[in-house]
Amino acid sequence: MKIGVLALQGDFDAHRRRLEELGAEVVLVKKPEQLNEIDGLVIPGGESGTFLKLLGEDGFAKLKDFVRAKPTFGTCAGCILLATEVENPKQAGLGALDITVRRNAYGRQIDSSIREGRFLNDPIEMVFIRAPKIERTGLGVEVIATEGQDPVLVRKGNTLAATFHPELSDDRRIHQYFLELVAERKAETVAGDCQDN
Ligand code: GLN
Repeated sequence: MKIGVLALQGDFDAHRRRLEELGAEVVLVKKPEQLNEIDGLVIPGGESGTFLKLLGEDGFAKLKDFVRAKPTFGTCAGCILLATEVENPKQAGLGALDITVRRNAYGRQIDSSIREGRFLNDPIEMVFIRAPKIERTGLGVEVIATEGQDPVLVRKGNTLAATFHPELSDDRRIHQYFLELVAERKAETVAGDCQDN
């Protein structure tokens, strides 16, 4: 399985390491053409506004096509990029997940913290860094992990988004979950291709 990690900015290298530990082949994606060679993509944390600038219109359009077609996992700034609606301030999203996200929602005092949340009902460590908050989840958006009352990992179909940084904890379960999603989709595509021929 080939997994791309968007490597324009932010903490892409921690994702690369984690995915490699789990046996994936990783491509650091710096150019839109590289999206053609991967089965799934991770959009890391960083600064979502800066991502938008670095992507430019063309990169944004290509990424938008990709996230509609293939599994994508966005963490923190990546989650913001995947949303349909972004607040504080308003900015463009790729619209892959019908959620409203508020940037830097935890204020200055607790802008970064390590907390315990629940992933598929089991306790798990979560690292939050200037984290956004998912304020609304649209129809069909599943909540996979929570911290207190807040949804912090959500999924719809091929798209997964976390407001925290699973690549900064030792626990590998969240990346494993994403890789299983990619593997399922890949198997379905191969089965579909065989039927077509
Ligand atoms: N605060 C950042 C933003 O709004 C996200 C922070 C992060 O990715 N750790 O884009």
